[in-house]
Amino acid sequence: MAYPVLNIDLDKIEHNARTIVELCAAHGVSVSGVTKAVCGNPQVAAAMLQGGVAGLADSRPENIQRMRGAGLDVSYMLLRLPSLSRVDEVIACADVSLNAELETLQALSASALRQGRVHAVILMVDLGDLREGVWPDQAVELAKALAQLKGLRLQGIGTNLACFSGAVPTRCNMRQLSDLAAAIEEACGLSLQWVSGLNSSGLKLLAEGGLPERVNHARIGEGILLGRETTQRKAWPDTHQDAFVLQAEVVELQWKPSAFKGEHGENAFGGHPQCENHGDILHALVNIGRQDVAVDGITPLEPIKLVGASSDYLGLDVSALAGRIRLGDVFSFHINYSALLSAMTSSYVEKRCYRGGVIDHGALDR
Ligand SMILES: *Cc1c(COP(=O)(O)O)cnc(C)c1O
Repeated sequence: MAYPVLNIDLDKIEHNARTIVELCAAHGVSVSGVTKAVCGNPQVAAAMLQGGVAGLADSRPENIQRMRGAGLDVSYMLLRLPSLSRVDEVIACADVSLNAELETLQALSASALRQGRVHAVILMVDLGDLREGVWPDQAVELAKALAQLKGLRLQGIGTNLACFSGAVPTRCNMRQLSDLAAAIEEACGLSLQWVSGLNSSGLKLLAEGGLPERVNHARIGEGILLGRETTQRKAWPDTHQDAFVLQAEVVELQWKPSAFKGEHGENAFGGHPQCENHGDILHALVNIGRQDVAVDGITPLEPIKLVGASSDYLGLDVSALAGRIRLGDVFSFHINYSALLSAMTSSYVEKRCYRGGVIDHGALDR
């Protein structure tokens, strides 16, 4: 087997999805599984579906096309606001998209008419995170304009929290979203199917029973993939945090001083690493670096310490394992969300999916 590898345990992902879907269902909330951190990997998406998610959501049209191409025939939601330059792709691949700009909606409408499709829209409202969405006082007006556009169907409203600023979902802002839904229904004379208030940061509020009844849709990525709610990154009950394990191989293993020799200036990445001299250490270089993964987001499973990182190497102090390791040995790491995103995106990291402990090559996505 060659390394580096990202091992993906599909059983754990399915289990996590089932836990989250059942919890949400108990509170009247339906779940779209968010696949952007795995670049729309069809095997991971299929595991989410087996766990019961109602549909799939991704930020990129190419990921949606990848999943559709693999034969996963479900409803797809595009999460990133459509670009004016790509409306035709959006209409062709996604059943529903999140939107906040009238000009984009007009372009989507024209494209839907050209392609003979009806495209559903979730209108995004910014409740304080300062990412996407119109300010609440603009929402009714935008909804009215949208209701006039042919080829589009206003399916609901939504908000995204805990992303740019860390503003978290509360009883208060979820109530505000519900009230806005009612105001839009009244002003436009229609009924909204979805009030999509939550991502993984909303699991705690939901489990506490803090959601107003109208909030009935969640878009969940990290909670399913890594088993964490995201306001404090706490492990979620009855989920696995280690569905993904990154592995890299030792390519140099030598005793070296723990401190630099000679004068030194900036390192290759503009940093000024400090290190104190505590004698010689057994120093391992492994074949993974910043071109493969966001190194700040990885945690070794063994009792070893990260001492450096370049584009291609991690430097590890493996003194605690002296006498027990050799060149060619493999170290394993748990990863956080940004490390997952980067490792999935790097074409240098092989992705290896497992089902029932054996490699699952996936009939899909060839
Ligand atoms: C990424 C994303 C999500 C999923 O967020 P998680 O914290 O991973 O659950 C939900 N909604 C939108 C709009 C997103 O971009």
